[in-house]
Amino acid sequence: DTTRPMYVRAAPLGTRFIVLIAEDRSEAERLEEVRRDFIANISHELKTPIGAVSLLAEALEPAADEPDRVRRFATRLSTEAARLAQITSDIISLSRLQASDVLNAPSEVSINQVVSRAIEQNRVTAEGRGIDLVLARAKHAKVMGDAQTLEVAVHNLIANAIAYSPEGTRVGVGIDVDDGVVSIAVTDQGIGIAPEDQDRVFERFFRVDPARARATGGTGLGLSIVKHAAQNHGGQVRLWSQPGRGSTFTIQLPQAATDAGSAADRTNEG
Ligand code: ADP
Repeated sequence: DTTRPMYVRAAPLGTRFIVLIAEDRSEAERLEEVRRDFIANISHELKTPIGAVSLLAEALEPAADEPDRVRRFATRLSTEAARLAQITSDIISLSRLQASDVLNAPSEVSINQVVSRAIEQNRVTAEGRGIDLVLARAKHAKVMGDAQTLEVAVHNLIANAIAYSPEGTRVGVGIDVDDGVVSIAVTDQGIGIAPEDQDRVFERFFRVDPARARATGGTGLGLSIVKHAAQNHGGQVRLWSQPGRGSTFTIQLPQAATDAGSAADRTNEG
């Protein structure tokens, strides 16, 4: 316990220092609470698919003579297994991102390539749901960082835009560079997010409508991963949304210093 000796030593310096230590302690308490909540949430999230897998496995044997039921149970077993795999991989991504503020070995990353890949990964889902997924604007942009982490972040935004939009709408992705800031914007014409939920959607496991999110295969971790990925790159995520009209999520990142000259040239060319 290092707090008490510091407290005693600090006392003669006046009340200001004591206040600082008091704040420090409550920050530690807050972090501990966040950690406890996270573990409680993970256990809760895992319980549902694990319970389903056990029940289905038990139900399989008595159904052995009924091929239709066996087939149905098998399909549900793979759905639950896929869900477990998704939750596990999201938890791993998130704890990696939270473990370090700075990326280990940042390299120059083409945002154009990151965005094209993320779009391609979502192409089939978009088509399946009757959504027009397009690259609306694309300036040439480079940042320093980790391509795979950024790809996961952009992928999550596009996957959400598709999941929370009705059939026949459009999801547009844009890349802009302005004054040393690279913006990747994902815009949908979907259900939107109420003002009171707009900060909360970035919290781990928060979902506006848990039943619906579960049906779309969401884990509630997607946007926290996006937020931490942006922050680890010295950036941030912005959200504009109106219920019933749609949402725009924008990842803003510092432009790579080596890229500044060439991007400015292109802008001047129009
Ligand atoms: P999930 O896996 O549930 O999608 P996320 O962390 O990615 O988890 O998102 C958290 C919640 O934010 C979602 O459950 C949903 O309620 C809301 N949300 C995220 N993206 C959108 C969007 N593009 N349009 C409307 N709601 C969204």
